[in-house]
Amino acid sequence: MAFFFLKSTHCCAAAINPAALRPFVTVLFQTVTNCVLSLSPMILSSLSTKEDIPVQTTLDTIVAFEGKGLHTGAFASVVVRPAPADHGIVFRRTDVTDHADVSALWSNVIVSPLNTRIENAAGTKVSTIEHIMAALAGCGIHNALIEVSGPEVPILDGSAAEFVEGFMRAGVRTMSAPLRVIEVLKPVTVTVGGATATLTPADTLHIEFEIDFADRAIGHQEKHLNMSNGAFVRELCDSRTFCRSSDVDAMRAQGLALGGTLENAVVVDGAEVLSPGGLRHRDEAVRHKMLDALGDLYTAGAPILGRYTGQKAGHAVTNALLRALFDDPDAWGWAVADAATAARLPGAGIRWSDLPAVA
Ligand SMILES: [Zn+2]
Repeated sequence: MAFFFLKSTHCCAAAINPAALRPFVTVLFQTVTNCVLSLSPMILSSLSTKEDIPVQTTLDTIVAFEGKGLHTGAFASVVVRPAPADHGIVFRRTDVTDHADVSALWSNVIVSPLNTRIENAAGTKVSTIEHIMAALAGCGIHNALIEVSGPEVPILDGSAAEFVEGFMRAGVRTMSAPLRVIEVLKPVTVTVGGATATLTPADTLHIEFEIDFADRAIGHQEKHLNMSNGAFVRELCDSRTFCRSSDVDAMRAQGLALGGTLENAVVVDGAEVLSPGGLRHRDEAVRHKMLDALGDLYTAGAPILGRYTGQKAGHAVTNALLRALFDDPDAWGWAVADAATAARLPGAGIRWSDLPAVA
């Protein structure tokens, strides 16, 4: 795989040129794709793989972060650990003794106005997971255990750049289980208030976003990205969360943004950017909305092949979109990724030179 920091742990001792096996393997996996839903994760894990067959990944080593939560203001340390195949992304509250694990899945997302919050059946919650989820999706990491010492993932600088840099430094390890992806099979749209989000079929993940704010520092912005070839790391990961100064008092009155500062969020007032140093990109706001969308889409439980279009959408709308998708069995399906598909996923083809200077 063209993932320069990926460290393979399995070897192919075959004397046959692996490229000669590719047509056979592709046909085999297309056949497997059609019945993969009926296979248990254990069976999937036991399928043998060849060196050029896309497989699941995890981190090669532990990586840690720490800081304040944007909304609670609570300090927390985060330790991201390698995890076995088919484990998925799971958060673990280390300050909670029972029922500490919460899977980062769309079905565990609960209503939260300005961030993505997950909750398990026992009521254990983890807030503001979207930026670290975007970094995992953007780096092509499929399995991880994320230990958090408090109720909220630290906001760091408001972007996902530090998470991405940490994951790239830790390295990514391949596993022996095939990589499954979620194919969008027909258009699905949700509209909530004035916001709309849509998923349509596509052979790789595209994210299109449009926002419109009265403040001239933001105004009307739209952007479209094919998420292949390191686009997330290069174009989106350093874009910070943002808000209007007029909203800060209202958020704090609701107990939100208690850890927000001019250093971890872009705050605008009319045409003025109040945060020191100004914007990292002229259209940093829409880029951050795309970052959020990637993180929220990763709660699907696997990479999505489809075109996401968001208009004024936010975390709740994207979660409603995933619920609508998975509610309709004709709208989606599992597939086992072939080499061509895997090469188009957001984690493929990242280079150190893609990492923005702020990371
Ligand atoms: Zn965000």
